[in-house]
Amino acid sequence: MFAPGTEVIAKFEFRKSSPMDLPFDKGDTLVVVGKTQDVNWIKVRNLRGMEGLIPVNYVEKKEKAAVQLHKMPWFHGRIDRAKAERLLTSSPEDGLFLVRESTNYPGDYALCVCYHAKVEHYHVMYDKKDQLTVDEESSFSNLTQLVNHYIKGADGLICRLKKPLEKQGTLAVSVDAESFMKSGWHIRRKDVDLIKVVGHGEFGDVWEGLFNQKKVAVKSLKEEGRAAQTFLTEASVMTALNHKNLVMLLGVSLDGSPIYIITEFCEKGSLVEYLRSRGRSVITQKDLIGFARDVANGMCYLESQNFIHRDLAARNVLLDENCMAKVADFGHAREQSVSVSGKLPVKWTAPEALKDGNFSSKSDVWSFSIFLWEMYSFGRVPYPRVQLTDVLSKVIKGYRMEKPDACTDDMFSLMTSCWQFYPNERPTFKNIVMTLKTYADDGKFLPVL
Ligand code: ADP
Ligand code: MG
Repeated sequence: MFAPGTEVIAKFEFRKSSPMDLPFDKGDTLVVVGKTQDVNWIKVRNLRGMEGLIPVNYVEKKEKAAVQLHKMPWFHGRIDRAKAERLLTSSPEDGLFLVRESTNYPGDYALCVCYHAKVEHYHVMYDKKDQLTVDEESSFSNLTQLVNHYIKGADGLICRLKKPLEKQGTLAVSVDAESFMKSGWHIRRKDVDLIKVVGHGEFGDVWEGLFNQKKVAVKSLKEEGRAAQTFLTEASVMTALNHKNLVMLLGVSLDGSPIYIITEFCEKGSLVEYLRSRGRSVITQKDLIGFARDVANGMCYLESQNFIHRDLAARNVLLDENCMAKVADFGHAREQSVSVSGKLPVKWTAPEALKDGNFSSKSDVWSFSIFLWEMYSFGRVPYPRVQLTDVLSKVIKGYRMEKPDACTDDMFSLMTSCWQFYPNERPTFKNIVMTLKTYADDGKFLPVL
């Protein structure tokens, strides 16, 4: 028997035969309410809140597994044609291959295959449906699927792909829609109601919605195709994470357009807006220490799971109805060994990450110091009066921001330790959590003046 509260998924369709029954379709999610006198029947609730009886053998427990990202060891990013040829012909083999970003067609790719000690470069482009194709006949939703197809057979290429030329160092990843379906994270669009727009993301609007009788946040993707990979990678990272100070993923909707990422709703919105709108007359030292602890706890968990956030900032911290802070926006977060491309938030990013792409939990610690500065400045933009293009060179020369008026000496010394130039001189999030525990928070603080 299933315990009350268990989510189950329908194996078959069920239609009503008595008024007490609850009809459902195959694949519907239902929540167990309790048993009945008949062991073969249970009481359930559907995601719209309707309750009724169903035959127990029509459903099975919904299991949620982490969605795996496919590593792409053969993806070399932005290298030019000549470099690809050098790599592939240094010890040539028929079928040795790699994929690179196209230099002639930005946004597209090139599949480079070695044959008879020469290299063929195939242009991999997006077709009208935003699918990847080499020959405009076979098309694929991501590079992994494309490569796997040509590993099976040449299908028009000069030869079959036999052996990847593996990139050294951090690897790129891809994600496919089917793994969300299979891993229990899929939510049907019909079960989600959109209420109103509450924010704007990089890829589309963020809505307040209703799902399973609860308020949820729905991130929508306005354009499909090339953006979908990046968008879904965020969701796949979230499937591996579970902590009260990280915004929790509920699922994704892929049965239609636009696609949705559905997460728990944070009633009070982003911390940066909260700081700016409430300001120093309302927000107390105690509140600020509380936010710092919440964020440090969430980041400490992330560090323990070997994930790097890469975009920690007050705009990406959200507050729930109890003003508990939760780290959000995992759009740039990856496991330690995985690389990301895209624009960097310069004023929040550690110098070694800006210069050499050297991201680690210690570069997140740097971002945490900037986050602390933002909090004690009530949402000001960091490095006021410094131009974006000058930030890195100034930081390398040792320039750091001043202590904000509202910041205590304790907190400033923590901030200073987190923006040390050398990553190993910075504390870990585990250290930070312990340090923050020692800071006074007995509530006797008056609002910051
Ligand atoms: P992006 O990756 O495009 O930056 P975010 O995840 O940062 O998107 O979301 C953009 C904005 O949408 C946030 O600043 C916030 O205002 C709102 N938002 C996002 N997620 C939630 C949520 N779970 N609850 C409430 N508001 C949210
Ligand atoms: Mg954001």
